[in-house]
Amino acid sequence: MAKSRNKNRYQFYIATIDTEIRQRKKLEMDLHMALEQSELSLRFQPQVNLNSSRIIGVETLLRWNHPDKGNISPDTFIPIAENSLDIIPIGDWVLESACSYLSAWRQSGFDDLRMAVNLSAVQLQDKSIVERVEGLLSKYQIPADKLELEVTETSIMEDIEVSCAQLNRLKEVGVILALDDFGTGYSSLSYLKRFPFDKIKIDKSFVDGLPDSKENTVIVEAIIQLGKSFGLEVIAEGVETMAQEKHLRHAGCLEGQGYFYGKPVLDDEFLDVLKNWDRDQ
Ligand code: C2E
Ligand code: MG
Ligand code: MG
Ligand code: MG
Repeated sequence: MAKSRNKNRYQFYIATIDTEIRQRKKLEMDLHMALEQSELSLRFQPQVNLNSSRIIGVETLLRWNHPDKGNISPDTFIPIAENSLDIIPIGDWVLESACSYLSAWRQSGFDDLRMAVNLSAVQLQDKSIVERVEGLLSKYQIPADKLELEVTETSIMEDIEVSCAQLNRLKEVGVILALDDFGTGYSSLSYLKRFPFDKIKIDKSFVDGLPDSKENTVIVEAIIQLGKSFGLEVIAEGVETMAQEKHLRHAGCLEGQGYFYGKPVLDDEFLDVLKNWDRDQ
């Protein structure tokens, strides 16, 4: 009796794994076609200076509208694209599209704006990324310090030596390098010293608890001080309330990004945001 129950459980378990593998494989195949089927698109979210309330930058965020499943989160499909290496053509498309939009916005008079693009570990390890970035800057006539590349601690951990060398090459090109989701990986402190970062992004999970959580308050204040000591720009991610903004500003954080300032929107909506921003403040 017990034996047959265990056998049933085992078969159920295998069937579940089998279904999961199939589903992932299917998603991987669908994703492979997504770029040419025009299912991928970009959204843009403002980054704001907390003292002047001006928009200083914008982060590009990728979206996948699956024909049957609707919107799938990048947290789900980016790892699949990394695994299949489709992140290389997809990431190239994101980079080029972002540069093209930035170039158009610069021509509309927003020439101080900085464009931030997320770079996956796989793209960072790819030796040709540096030439690609240089090529895009020259094609779209974008000053290097108007392009920011965001990498996560986890992604530089994949191969520390190669990541460090690649980041140094990108730094020589003059682009801004940001460490995304700061505080969620490990050994953060040693990386700050070792890698040529210009900026750290305080992860949303720490900003969430402000100002009520004592722990998060202490962590956020420590990160801001740390950034200052290392001469790094510090931006808080996931700012949703005025209370959070106030707290961050008092703690000496100069920049913020989050729904409080604006959700990620389509390019033409973002241009409207840029045009109306100062008037609305
Ligand atoms: P991330 O780079 O840390 O981006 C911030 C995420 O927080 C975005 O989620 C954004 O929509 C969300 N967010 C911003 N402000 C708020 C807020 O106030 N409240 C809440 N609840 N969420 C907020 P999204 O767009 O789903 O992206 C998730 C992650 O996927 C990104 O995290 C990034 O790691 C990755 N990703 C997105 N686009 C790309 C891309 O083009 N390439 C690569 N390699 N990764 C990407
Ligand atoms: Mg990011
Ligand atoms: Mg982040
Ligand atoms: Mg993230």
